[in-house]
Amino acid sequence: MRIDLHTHSLCSDGTDSPSELMELASAAGLDAVGLVDHDTVAGWTEAEAAAQRGVKLVRGMEVTAQYEGISVHILAYLFNPEHPQVIEHISSVRTSRKTRAQEIVDRIAADYPLTWNDVVEAAAPGATIGRPHIADALVNHGIVTHRSAAFDSILSSSSKYYVQQYAPDAIDVVKFIDDAGGKSVFAHPWALQRGRIVPDRAFGELAAAGLFGVEVDHRDNPRDTREKLAAIVDSCGLARFGSSDFHGTGKPNALGENTTSAEVYSALITGTYLEVR
Ligand code: AMP
Ligand code: ZN
Ligand code: FE
Ligand code: FE
Repeated sequence: MRIDLHTHSLCSDGTDSPSELMELASAAGLDAVGLVDHDTVAGWTEAEAAAQRGVKLVRGMEVTAQYEGISVHILAYLFNPEHPQVIEHISSVRTSRKTRAQEIVDRIAADYPLTWNDVVEAAAPGATIGRPHIADALVNHGIVTHRSAAFDSILSSSSKYYVQQYAPDAIDVVKFIDDAGGKSVFAHPWALQRGRIVPDRAFGELAAAGLFGVEVDHRDNPRDTREKLAAIVDSCGLARFGSSDFHGTGKPNALGENTTSAEVYSALITGTYLEVR
């Protein structure tokens, strides 16, 4: 089985609609695909309707969180989207993402001809707003050539235009996803180029809070560190995941470039509030 549990659609910062994504998953020969848009479940219904031809859909959400002030992403799967803390998370992050993106745009606008409206136009209606949409607006203005160039310069976390995103504590996120009947996986924990990474003790602490697994095989975890990460993950009793983090044309990541084993997939989808479709 080919299983890729980390992809994004236009509902956040991917470039394909949820149904296009399901088509692409089928064309890529995947048996199961996870749709995990940032801080939203808005793409689930459309993806479910398009799920066919033998590709299983695993409904999820990539939660923006922090561990001792360090930005981390938690992949939450098959939870009850109506759980009060899930609803509270989605609405508070939604509001703060907009304010934060507007602040970044204000800073950039001091030096470049960029407006908030340009960013709004670069995102699909209702999408979770993030730096990728600011990147697209910069590309549309010819200020940078592509998204990655924007992340390497104006939008980098060390840039003078950068503003931090509000985020709940990762331990609390793992707990409320567990409460909501879901399972959580720590996404790309050793993505050094994104900024600071958590100390090793974080894995044990998150495991104690109910974390199910860790994304080891992900292009942002440097290849020569993955076996060391896998050993830590194993020693904490956590499952090893591998995923593409596909964003359509917004990133070079190809569907299925990293995958999760059938054993881990089967354990993930057992006993959760929602079933795969
Ligand atoms: P934000 O959540 O607004 O801070 O933006 C982070 C998002 O930007 C993440 O979802 C990443 O997938 C995406 N991202 C990070 N680096 C890059 C890059 N070099 N090119 C395109 N997208 C990126
Ligand atoms: Zn993203
Ligand atoms: Fe992420
Ligand atoms: Fe992602």
